[in-house]
Amino acid sequence: MILRKILSLCLELLFPPHCVFCDKVLAPGTKICKTCAETVVPVRALRCMNPSGSGQNIPCIVLYFYDAQVRDSIIRFKFYGEKSNADFYAEQLSKWIGKQMPPLSFDFVTAVPISRERKKQRGYNQSELIARKLAAGLGIPYEECLEKVVDNREQHRLPRRERMKNVTGVYRASGDQVPGKRILLLDDIVTTGATLCECAEVLLNAGAKVVTCAAVAQVNKESC
Ligand SMILES: [Zn+2]
Repeated sequence: MILRKILSLCLELLFPPHCVFCDKVLAPGTKICKTCAETVVPVRALRCMNPSGSGQNIPCIVLYFYDAQVRDSIIRFKFYGEKSNADFYAEQLSKWIGKQMPPLSFDFVTAVPISRERKKQRGYNQSELIARKLAAGLGIPYEECLEKVVDNREQHRLPRRERMKNVTGVYRASGDQVPGKRILLLDDIVTTGATLCECAEVLLNAGAKVVTCAAVAQVNKESC
């Protein structure tokens, strides 16, 4: 344990950490700069999603609004390989969820999957990285129980009304962990909620007892 800490400190001295939000070089052991700590304020909102207007409302825990430094941070995390940002997002989500709900509220954490092709191109599923660390922070397991079976069009390129249709039938439950379970389902960004709701419905149809969603950032401020 001590050896691991010394090693990580040496690595941080060689490769100093950068601020998760503004990318400024920081002193070892820190994750965000003083300015961002004061200006990037979490919204910590709980919204209800029902984009198709039918079925049940799905609760979703949201940490930030997707604008300014939060958007830059997620873009660097998702498209430019800054995987270490997942540590900070998960830590913040875990602290907040831990305060709001006892860790035993969920049996496990899972993530919205990306297609095999996309994972091969990017090298990682950004939501899975956060979800695994969030599970560790909450002291519960991470389980892979969803797969993306259709490589659909990217949601952010579509008008709002087409998004629900674009995700219908795209995901399926895998494995046998779902029946009777209370699941915390994570995605990096939530816009209309179509993707999270479709995944939640797939899990509920596969026998999940309760599905609660969580996202690092919310695109539309008016939805919170
Ligand atoms: Zn900063």
